[in-house]
Amino acid sequence: MNMEEQLTKLTQDMYGKTIEQTTDQELYYAVLKLSKELLDTTAPISGDKKIYYISAEFLIGKLLSNNLINLGVYDKLEEVLKAHGKELSKIEEVEPEPSLGNGGLGRLAACFLDSIATLGLPGDGIGLNYHFGLFKQVFKDKLQCAEKNDWIEENSWLNKTDVTFDVAFGDRKVKSRLYDIDVVGYEKGVNKLHLFDIESVDESIVKEGINFDKEDIEKNLTLFLYPDDSDEAGNLLRIYQQYFMVSNAAQLILAELKEKKYDLRRMYDYAVIQINDTHPTMVIPELIRILMEEKAFTMDEAIDVVSKTCAYTNHTILAEALEKWPLKYLEKVVPQLVPIIKELDKRVRAKYTDEKVQIIDKDERVHMAHIDIHYGFSVNGVAAIHTEILKDTELNHFYKIYPEKFNNKTNGITFRRWLLSCNRELASYLTETIGEGFKHDADRLEKLLDFADDQAVLDKLAEIKMHKKEELVSYVKEKEGVELDPNAIFDIQVKRLHEYKRQQMNALYIIHKYLEIKAGKKPSTPVTFIFGAKAAPAYVIAQDIIHLLLVMQEIVNNDPDVSPYMKVLMVENYNVSYAEKLIPACDISEQISLASKEASGTGNMKFMLNGAVTLGTADGANVEIHDLVGDDNIYVFGKDSDTVIAHYEKADYVSKDYYEKSPVIKEAVDFIISDLAVKHGHKENLERLYKELLNKDWFMTLLDLEDYIETKDRMLKDYEDRQKWKKMMLVNIAKAGFFSSDRTIAEYNRDIWKLK
Ligand SMILES: *Cc1c(COP(=O)(O)O)cnc(C)c1O
Repeated sequence: MNMEEQLTKLTQDMYGKTIEQTTDQELYYAVLKLSKELLDTTAPISGDKKIYYISAEFLIGKLLSNNLINLGVYDKLEEVLKAHGKELSKIEEVEPEPSLGNGGLGRLAACFLDSIATLGLPGDGIGLNYHFGLFKQVFKDKLQCAEKNDWIEENSWLNKTDVTFDVAFGDRKVKSRLYDIDVVGYEKGVNKLHLFDIESVDESIVKEGINFDKEDIEKNLTLFLYPDDSDEAGNLLRIYQQYFMVSNAAQLILAELKEKKYDLRRMYDYAVIQINDTHPTMVIPELIRILMEEKAFTMDEAIDVVSKTCAYTNHTILAEALEKWPLKYLEKVVPQLVPIIKELDKRVRAKYTDEKVQIIDKDERVHMAHIDIHYGFSVNGVAAIHTEILKDTELNHFYKIYPEKFNNKTNGITFRRWLLSCNRELASYLTETIGEGFKHDADRLEKLLDFADDQAVLDKLAEIKMHKKEELVSYVKEKEGVELDPNAIFDIQVKRLHEYKRQQMNALYIIHKYLEIKAGKKPSTPVTFIFGAKAAPAYVIAQDIIHLLLVMQEIVNNDPDVSPYMKVLMVENYNVSYAEKLIPACDISEQISLASKEASGTGNMKFMLNGAVTLGTADGANVEIHDLVGDDNIYVFGKDSDTVIAHYEKADYVSKDYYEKSPVIKEAVDFIISDLAVKHGHKENLERLYKELLNKDWFMTLLDLEDYIETKDRMLKDYEDRQKWKKMMLVNIAKAGFFSSDRTIAEYNRDIWKLK
């Protein structure tokens, strides 16, 4: 049967209708079924040694378009549907987005699974099947509200398996159930994403918003990603979730090794476990425990084997993000691991007197990252500058002990999703211009440099950008009810809301620009500032920043003196699907974190690949973007990481000094509590943010604000030199090949995993 006959049969069998007669909703389920049949007949990837990527998050996004591309049938199916009067892009819209991640770290895990399969490496993801995942964001009265994100449907990419395990906690026992999602490589075989669920989960315990009984573990364990941890019950729930994840992971991995009759004493020859951030750290003591209790290993043997199997990726230097669990919480939830953790700590103390490398500190808190570093064989950072900061500062005490463990793996993104799928127009024009090669070898994008002075190519790149902006404009009109002008410069900052990412600095620029226009200084090209960001529900200042952005949106867009020249839009519920629409339409990519704080960033790479020009600090992978494109094709501003780190060491940054010294800064900051702002917003939120900026400003917004204003103004001016701008677009696309996650995964494999 050809594809047309297959699909016709499916719509007949499922709905008794022809393709023409089905709704897009029905057709989505038929195409889902068709895709799953194709996946079932695609060979699994196999090999002697396998990578297990354990992660609390897999921000996979919708799967239909990507799976069709990777299966090599997208164009064919699009043609079949067209012949029956249906549009594949409309059918893609029907799919709900899985809510299994939070931001960059979870999206990275998803890109990695795609690249692992694309490189033909045997490797599975292991995580949890959160029913409501991360919350859904809605704005009410210019404030963020959190609602449950109900994404699992009767028919979905999830395949229920008959694999179940018992998981024992200190005070209860539960039964798990494994669900699998197929991960197909680009024109390659299939790996799995293993998502564990609890048999007794009960969605009905969620009342209004995202409130539920945090102590009802049998019912709540897999409901939410990152439940509110501002109280003890929330902290305990996170530990229950983490142990549930790693206990299942350990049982699954050992069962697979047993089935293949591999010798557990040489486990590291057959399995490598990548620990994505500290959430899966307990897999180390858990494996040691099982090997000792069930496989008759001595402690020394178990530690040796496990340490040679596990590798750790660090994603942050923010102290508050490095997990430290009180020992008494672990005693309640996982008492079976406590003697092992104590023994691991004792062995460290016997060798090293430095308090900073101990696992259990004097306040009886267990430093999870310290377990990973002592008892794993590799520690990697995620961008060159980040790894250097780890070695020189944050983890310097460990680097001195284990210099050979430390290595860098600069993050990457899958070009299947972030180019071939989200920007089909650009992908097909690139194919026309430089050939197919870049689809399998991203470095070949560099061929585009041969066309840097070819007017037809430059004009076409600008034409595609305009087309993607027009598409975004119509999507936004429908979704948000806001009218944008595609001729305006699209300046976009989309990422989790956090003070270190400094959305507040962008907001102060917007205030500054608004006041300039009010005073008669009108820009010659209009500019639109777009934001998308969720804030952790317990993070008060982040909520206040969202509030300020929504207040500015109302003030600016409704002011007839100003709105012809500038607009502001904060989109609701930013997620992967929204990213896929925003990023291709972007002119200016905002990557303005305080230097030293953004480990890598991956949004910056997606924008570059789609022809946006970066406005950024010398932080994370921005530094490597700068090295690749050169000074003429990026706008770098702000104090560098050495200066910032010195400010923290000397504790000598005083935001008020900057406020008092600069009339421009003062005017913008004061506007936050002006009568006009307060009239449109809530005094309490605005005053709290104002005070935070003046009296604390932990992430040094005012330190870089003047330089930011000056640099962004220069960038907006440069946009008017269309020829110069088009060349910058071309160079950014041409140099993006380095950021393919295929390159990142090839490096992980070469240096850490050593498969094949
Ligand atoms: C890529 C991505 C991120 C990470 O963005 P950064 O700018 O690197 O923080 C977050 N959320 C979504 C939905 C993404 O696609």
